Amino acid sequence: MSSHAVRPKILGFISEDASAWLVAVLVLLAGGLLTLLLAVGSHDLYQRQLQQRFDLLASERFSRIEERFDDQIQRLDSLRRFFVNSDSVSRREFTGYARPLLRRTQAYAWAPRVGGSARALFERRVRAEGIGDFSIRELDAQGHLQLAEVRDEYVPVLYSETQSPLGSPLGYDLLAQPLRRATLERARESGLMAISQPLNLVGVEPGYDRGALLVAPVVMPTAVGQPQPGPLGYVLAVISLRQLVTDGLPEQSQDNLSVRILDLSTEGEHEVLYQSPNPPMEHSLTAVRLLRLADRDYQVTIDSSEPFKQANHSSVSSLVVLGGLLSVLLSALLYSLVSQRQRALRLVEQRTAQLQVRDRLLEKLSANVPGSLYQYKLNLDGSSQFVYASAGTGDTFEVDVRLLQEDAAPAFERVHPDDLAELRASIQVSALRLSPWREEFRVILPTRGVRWLRGEALPERLPGGEVLWHGYLSDISDLKRVEDELRALSVTDSLTGIYNRRYFQERLSAEMALAQRGPGRLSVIMLDIDHFKRINDQHGHAEGDRVLKEVCLRVGHRLRRTDVFCRLGGEEFMVLCPNTDAGQASTLAMELWLALRCAPFGRVGQVTASFGIASWRVGEGADALLLRADSGVYLAKQNGRDQVTVEQD
Ligand code: GH3
Ligand code: MG
Ligand code: MG
Repeated sequence: MSSHAVRPKILGFISEDASAWLVAVLVLLAGGLLTLLLAVGSHDLYQRQLQQRFDLLASERFSRIEERFDDQIQRLDSLRRFFVNSDSVSRREFTGYARPLLRRTQAYAWAPRVGGSARALFERRVRAEGIGDFSIRELDAQGHLQLAEVRDEYVPVLYSETQSPLGSPLGYDLLAQPLRRATLERARESGLMAISQPLNLVGVEPGYDRGALLVAPVVMPTAVGQPQPGPLGYVLAVISLRQLVTDGLPEQSQDNLSVRILDLSTEGEHEVLYQSPNPPMEHSLTAVRLLRLADRDYQVTIDSSEPFKQANHSSVSSLVVLGGLLSVLLSALLYSLVSQRQRALRLVEQRTAQLQVRDRLLEKLSANVPGSLYQYKLNLDGSSQFVYASAGTGDTFEVDVRLLQEDAAPAFERVHPDDLAELRASIQVSALRLSPWREEFRVILPTRGVRWLRGEALPERLPGGEVLWHGYLSDISDLKRVEDELRALSVTDSLTGIYNRRYFQERLSAEMALAQRGPGRLSVIMLDIDHFKRINDQHGHAEGDRVLKEVCLRVGHRLRRTDVFCRLGGEEFMVLCPNTDAGQASTLAMELWLALRCAPFGRVGQVTASFGIASWRVGEGADALLLRADSGVYLAKQNGRDQVTVEQD
């Protein structure tokens, strides 16, 4: 498979080849844009909320100032009515009434109208009340009180109730000063309350001395048809706007609002009557309203102050910082992920290439290794297949490898019927015990015939319960042949080609074991060539050898397929006759005896042999059996040779 087949995509849209940097930058830009949009939206919302809060606060502040204005009007009006409804008001009564009214008002005063001619009498009467230095006074150019000049009319302060520790400016003539006079005249003309233009208040603490006089004329009711003589005098409220506005408000540093009150009564430039010490904040929110006090309008301007800004801090900057931070983090995370993934993919490519090289190597190896390498899987239902089978496996069974990968049955069909059961059993044992499997068995192949195979494999149990072997099969036919040849050589007598003593011993043990389990018939015939030494001596050793071979040929021809003919050594031979009793053995011995003596051995002439027979008896050992056969030969020799001795007891 090509290593560049299909390149996967990250998140379904970014090619794997795309640089991690590009991804990171894109994410950062997207994050930044999103943050910007959020910030804009959040800013708008913040602005609206800010405006709403400010409007609420400003409206509350306007109402409060307006209430205080109304409050001033009502209290002064009540004082006025107090005078109107009383025949006369003594100083004590005035104090008793006015003192409780002194809230957010610097002072209340009563100033009667005094005619110019009545001045002296008036001053005397007041002094007689106990106010020793009383006289009608006015301010000089330096602002000091001095005796008032002679005028037609005076409106001196007679009673005064003040908050100021400076005391009351009793005797101060309100008509002496133009602004005060104008106010009194407006009040007298309208018969209603009037408020003065801003002026410096007399007898009021510095800092609070810029204010206004609220004046109400005290007009006594007259009988119907009587001309109105004008007011009896005036009740006055001395109002410091600073006190009026700031009283009961939070500390300047904590006041959310900055208030400015503008007097609109003067032509041209309007005087600022009051300005909060805390300045408006930068780009402040502003609300303006006209508030009326008596006969004048005041422009009240309310701005948001620095504490308002601090109390309503915008979260936009935090949002931007947070959004920016998140974008950077996300970008860094994606960078790390993408670069890691790229590294991982490169590694996978490298490993794939290495594996492909190994794969090819394995294929080459398995193709060139004699025999086959395989993985064989035995399923739970008993079916099996060669999960992997090298090319050699096909040759081993002369079956298409692809068939074996689906089902191993065609391979088993090739197994020699005699070996199949054992082969299957060995596989079952290995599967059961998970023990190494090792087996040699034959297969019958269409073209090469019977072949010997040797297999070795190690099993492992799969998670599903199946067993998987990894192993190899090799053709050991040649080995088997050599082995057989060696085996044949090791049990064959080199001169005569019949079995040797070793083979005889092996077969005798095996046959005796069989006889012990079976019907128990087994006989041996021993023969020894007569005077063989003489043959050697007379005709030479080579001729002796030929005689030995000829004896073997003649005896071999007479024997049954089941008989085993062996040369024990020299000119002594033994025939092992399975399933043969003493009688049958005797008959056979006679036939053999006859076969030797029936025809001469070439120029050697007549060759005879002496025969001894022994049939196995239950419980008898091999040595005892052979000894009895040997005794038989011995007896034959004793009795003149060339004869068969029947079985000895
Ligand atoms: P008897 O009738 O008593 O059996 O006498 P014999 O001469 O056959 O027996 P003996 O045991 O005296 O002699 C056996 C001889 O067989 C001695 C030995 O030289 C000879 N011989 C043994 N093996 C071979 C062989 O492989 N080839 C030849 N040519 N002679 C052998
Ligand atoms: Mg002998
Ligand atoms: Mg002999």
